[in-house]
Amino acid sequence: MRLVLHLLRQERSAVDSFGNAIMTLKREVKYCKVCHNISDTETCLICANPGRDASTICVVENVRDVMAVEATQQFRGLYHVLGGVISPMDGIGPSDLQIESLVERVKSGTVKEVILALSSTMEGDTTNFFIFRKLAPYDVKMSVIARGISIGDELQYTDEVTLGRSIVNRTLFTGNM
Ligand SMILES: [Zn+2]
Repeated sequence: MRLVLHLLRQERSAVDSFGNAIMTLKREVKYCKVCHNISDTETCLICANPGRDASTICVVENVRDVMAVEATQQFRGLYHVLGGVISPMDGIGPSDLQIESLVERVKSGTVKEVILALSSTMEGDTTNFFIFRKLAPYDVKMSVIARGISIGDELQYTDEVTLGRSIVNRTLFTGNM
C-alpha cells in the first residue's frame, strides 16, 4: 500500500520506468527445466550438483518452499516445484501444475522415492492423492512429511527445526487418510 501511494505521487515517466523494470524482471526470471526451481541457468544448481541424491525427489508447491527445506539442511535429494496445489475454487487444475513433468522424471527410472511436502490443507491433500494415483503404476516409494504442526499451516511458515524433523520422520504414503 505504501508503495502504491509512493507511486501515485511520482511523475508518470518515473512510474512507467518502474513498471518496465518489473516487467523485465518477470520476463527474465528463469526456471530450471528439470525441477522448475528459479535458476540463472538451464538446470539449477541443485539439479546440477552431483553430490545430491537423484533417487529422492521432494515435491513442493513453490520456490519459497525449496528455500525452506534447504534451510533445514536435512535433505540431500532433488526437488520438484509444482507451482501451486490443485484448487478448484481458484480454477487451478492438475494441468496448471508441473505434474506431468514429475511423472516423466519418475518414468525415467532413477527416482526411488517421492516425498510429498505440500501444505496440510484440503488442497494439499487433494494434490497428494492426485500425484499418488498418477505415480501408482511406477515402482516408486511415496512418503509424506510428518506433521507436528496444525492443519492449514503452510510449509514456509514452519520453523527450520520442525520442518527438518518432519522430513527426517516422514511416513509412507499409502493413499489412506
Ligand atoms: Zn532444478
